[in-house]
Amino acid sequence: MDWRENVRMVTPYVAGEQPKISDIIKLNTNESPYPPSPKVGAGMASLDAGLLRLYPDPNCTVLVDALADYYGLTPEQVFVGVGSDDVLALAYLTFFNSKKPLLFPDVSYSFYDVWAELYRIPYQTVPLDDDFGINQEDYLRDNGGIIFPNPNAPTGVFENLDLVEYIVKNNSDSIVIIDEAYIDFGGVSALKLIDKYSNLLVVQTFSKSRAMAGIRIGYAMGNPELIKYLSDAKFSFNSYTMNLTSLTLGGLAVLDDAYFKEITAKIINTREWFGKELTRLGFSYPKSCANFIFATHPEIKAAELFLKLKESGIYVRYFNQPRIDNYLRITIGTDEEMRKVVEFLNKYNV
Ligand SMILES: *Cc1c(COP(=O)(O)O)cnc(C)c1O
Repeated sequence: MDWRENVRMVTPYVAGEQPKISDIIKLNTNESPYPPSPKVGAGMASLDAGLLRLYPDPNCTVLVDALADYYGLTPEQVFVGVGSDDVLALAYLTFFNSKKPLLFPDVSYSFYDVWAELYRIPYQTVPLDDDFGINQEDYLRDNGGIIFPNPNAPTGVFENLDLVEYIVKNNSDSIVIIDEAYIDFGGVSALKLIDKYSNLLVVQTFSKSRAMAGIRIGYAMGNPELIKYLSDAKFSFNSYTMNLTSLTLGGLAVLDDAYFKEITAKIINTREWFGKELTRLGFSYPKSCANFIFATHPEIKAAELFLKLKESGIYVRYFNQPRIDNYLRITIGTDEEMRKVVEFLNKYNV
C-alpha cells in the first residue's frame, strides 16, 4: 500500500492573479479601487503593538457587536471569520452533511465545487437559463443543501427576493446559504428573511464593498441556533481565527457608514457609465448589480482580448469554462481607470 492512498488530494481553487508590478490597471479580482474609510487608517496608526502579546478575543465581540448594531440584529445572530471564504468553508463543514447532493448553479463561484470535493460532499450543478437566470422550480428536487451567490458571480445577475424566499421556503429540510459578496452594489439582501426561516444563512464580506480584501473579514447572519452550530464547529477547529488587528479595524470600518455609502454609490455610477460605453462598442452583458460587468462581443474573441488587454497593462478575468468562455469579467475601477479601458477598446480593431 502507498501512503498516497491516505492523502486528501484536492484540486485547489485558482484565485485571480495578484501581479507584483504596480503600474497596471487591476480589474481582475473585484477589489475596490478606493481605500477603506479614513477611520480605519487612523485606527491602524494608533494600534498598540504591545497588545499582540495576548491572544485576541475568541468571541470577536467588538466586531460582532458592531455588525449586529449595524444590521439591527442581536450578537447571537452574527458569526465572523477570516473572509467569507473561511465562513463558507466552515458552513459547508457544519451544515452540509447529508448523503443527498448539495445544489448550486452551473455558472457560479468556482469555490463551491472545490469545498464539496475537499469535504467529499456529493453535489449537483443546476443549469442557469440562457440569460444566466435561476429557474426556481429547478430547486424543488431532493437535496442536502443549497448555495448560490446573489448577485451571482461572475455574471452580476441579481435574483429578486421572491425567488430567494421561494427556494428557502420550499427547502425547509435543508440549509440554504445566500452568498451576498456583492449585495451592496444594487441588490436587496435576504437578511430580512432570517427571522422567518430557520434554514437560511446569509453570508457577506468586507472584501468588495467595504474595500478591505487585505484584512480578511467575512460574516454570516442567521438565527441564533444556526450561528451556534457554526461557532461550535469553529471552536472545535481553531478558536482564534480573527486576529486583533482585523477585529479592531473591522469594527471601525462598520461605524463609518457615510464613507461606505459614498464609495459604493461611486462604483455604481461608474458601472452605469462604463456599461453604456460597452454597449456603444458592440458588447452585450447581463444587467449587473455587482462591482463588475460580465461582457461578451459577437466578433471579438474574449480569450484574445483578455491577452491584448493584459499586454497593455489592463488585467481582467477570463474563465475558460463551458458557456462562459467568450466572456470577460471586468471589475469596476475608478472613472479614470475605466476611461482608459474604453480608450483601449475604441482602438482595438475587430
Ligand atoms: C469574493 C467572493 C467571496 C469571498 O470573498 P472573501 O474575500 O473570502 O470574503 C465569496 N463569494 C463570492 C461569490 C465572491 O465573489
